[in-house]
Amino acid sequence: MAISDNLAAIRMELPDTVRLVAVSKFHPVATLMDAYGAGQRVFGESRVQELVAKQPLMPADVEWHFIGTLQTNKVKYIAPFISMIHSVDSVRLLQEIDRRAAEAGRTIRALIETHVAEETTKHGFGIDECLEFFRDGGGSRFANVEICGLMGMATFTDDMEQVRREFRALKQLFEEIRALPETDKSVFRELSMGMSDDYHIAIEEGSTMVRIGTKIFGGRT
Ligand SMILES: *Cc1c(COP(=O)(O)O)cnc(C)c1O
Repeated sequence: MAISDNLAAIRMELPDTVRLVAVSKFHPVATLMDAYGAGQRVFGESRVQELVAKQPLMPADVEWHFIGTLQTNKVKYIAPFISMIHSVDSVRLLQEIDRRAAEAGRTIRALIETHVAEETTKHGFGIDECLEFFRDGGGSRFANVEICGLMGMATFTDDMEQVRREFRALKQLFEEIRALPETDKSVFRELSMGMSDDYHIAIEEGSTMVRIGTKIFGGRT
């Protein structure tokens, strides 16, 4: 199927409360432009080098989201234009984003990547660590970073009940943080969960942003 058909099919399934991040990593700009032509404006990339190569070649109204592991020494390359960083996995990284956002005269939106998967290979904040961070006022400590919510990934498994459990745990944590007196509920409202294989479950469990690559663009080489 054409990219525009794939996008249309996915959009039909998304409630109004859920935004679609088109994950375009490993695909060439011409392919991204097909999605752009079909009305897609939010694109997600996972490697800094690839993102900074594509960004100037795409129209200026594209909203770029960073979803991969981000090394602190590379934040400066994306700070001038990145709209949201989904994959904040340490306070140190937050500090660097804050510094580089200030330099660029911007505010950068960010999500705290939180580890809810039962498998051990995923990284990010632990559930307790995340809660602790927000209880300590971390959510509003950084003047140039708006911490808008959480991001998480489920275990890579065929066991859809396990996937559901993990998404549910992330949603529960999200609600706990929203209920803290320290939390600005007008800012902290995004829950980024769901990929090609599990976004239906993620939406049922309260996702507000799905990150979909394969189902839009096909396989990656
Ligand atoms: C690659 C990637 C996706 C998209 O995965 P698909 O299975 O192709 O939809 C989503 N989130 C993150 C963090 C990714 O790295």
